[in-house]
Amino acid sequence: MTTTPDDVRPAPRTDPLGVVVPSSVPTHWYNLAADLPEPCPPALHPSTREPLTPDDLAPLFPMALIAQEVTTERWVEIPQTVRELYALWRPSPLVRAVRLERALGTPARIYYKYEGVSPVGSHKPNTAVAQAYYNAVEGITKLTTETGAGQWGASLSMACSLLGLECEVWQVRASYDAKPYRRMQMETYGGVCHPSPSDLTESGRAMLAADPDTTGSLGMAISEAVEAAATNPAAHYALGSVLNHVLLHQSVIGQEALAQLDEIGETADVVFGCAGGGSNLGGLAFPFLGRNLRDGATTRVVACEPAACPSLTQGEYRYDFGDVAGLTPLLKMHTLGKDFVPPPIHAGGLRYHGMAPMVSHAYELGLLSAIAVEQEDAFAAGVEFARAEGIIPAPESTHAVAGAIAHARAATEAETIVIGLSGNGILDLPAYHQYV
Ligand SMILES: *Cc1c(COP(=O)(O)O)cnc(C)c1O
Repeated sequence: MTTTPDDVRPAPRTDPLGVVVPSSVPTHWYNLAADLPEPCPPALHPSTREPLTPDDLAPLFPMALIAQEVTTERWVEIPQTVRELYALWRPSPLVRAVRLERALGTPARIYYKYEGVSPVGSHKPNTAVAQAYYNAVEGITKLTTETGAGQWGASLSMACSLLGLECEVWQVRASYDAKPYRRMQMETYGGVCHPSPSDLTESGRAMLAADPDTTGSLGMAISEAVEAAATNPAAHYALGSVLNHVLLHQSVIGQEALAQLDEIGETADVVFGCAGGGSNLGGLAFPFLGRNLRDGATTRVVACEPAACPSLTQGEYRYDFGDVAGLTPLLKMHTLGKDFVPPPIHAGGLRYHGMAPMVSHAYELGLLSAIAVEQEDAFAAGVEFARAEGIIPAPESTHAVAGAIAHARAATEAETIVIGLSGNGILDLPAYHQYV
């Protein structure tokens, strides 16, 4: 699989879905909204509870992303600059896990789609470079954001450096103290990283006043990053998961996987992805769901979430805020409540109280199912995968691996399983060390 800039020229051939040939970076993002049997409930204004207008979002996001948030067009063209950046690590490999199959003694064929080949080691740059691009085109000079374990902060810092923007990141206090490497990654890219809650914002000061020893949460850090963007006309805010435009950008994962499977004459029976805010799961699974809805394919999708933060399997489906201070729009989603502070599980990227509205809606419609995985079982699966395939999965990704391994162990026939391996665990080795 080559990654030279030549590969990002428009593909000479497309299949009947309009998906590019597998050896090339996709030309378009895929939008599940075009194929849903019922539209996804709209985001609401936090005070009026009326559907959001583009003007409501303009202080935080560029118009191109606001349009992508609500579009129902099936295909959205990927700007050439973004395709060229994608070509630094895309297409990502789809690999058959032959040694894992053997170790499990399963008749199933197991493939993994590996997003750990990106420069920061996860799927998050797929949306980071797109968001930085549209902001740069609109003349914005700085992006603010929050991060948990640091994958998103590192991804956005990298994207901002590639596109000439400043980047300011609020990182959940517990991770800021315990996991310094991704902060070093952010700083290497030129990003600035603060622990959250901080005394730099009004919402941060209020949270510190309420609980000076708080270890922070993603919801608190979002409040700070949103406030910092809203009070600076040259700055916008960027979110690494949950929103429709993020899932749209991540659809390159599933489109490539579909094309790669087509090329080798395989059809996925079941797809496993880990679910925190829902972006890598949606990115991998939605192109498969689109094929189910349009062409009567029957690929099943299983969202794998941590038992310690089970928004899909235990949360309520209702309108809720994305942050603690209640500054964000109201999103209809599966939620554990905006004030839920998850226990400090190792998979930092899965510690969010809500689930993407589009994933939540698809779950309500019965288009996908969900399971909750205990941390012990997730790490056991991660170690088993590492010993069979060599790659040490990110702690988040181990939840998908655990779901797939349990399924493969029980399989009695030669079905085809696809695992979304959202990232590698090289910067999370202390968590593996504790487990081993
Ligand atoms: C952030 C992250 C996740 C969780 O986020 P989603 O939006 O649910 O994809 C999963 N895996 C990795 C490697 C991450 O960095």
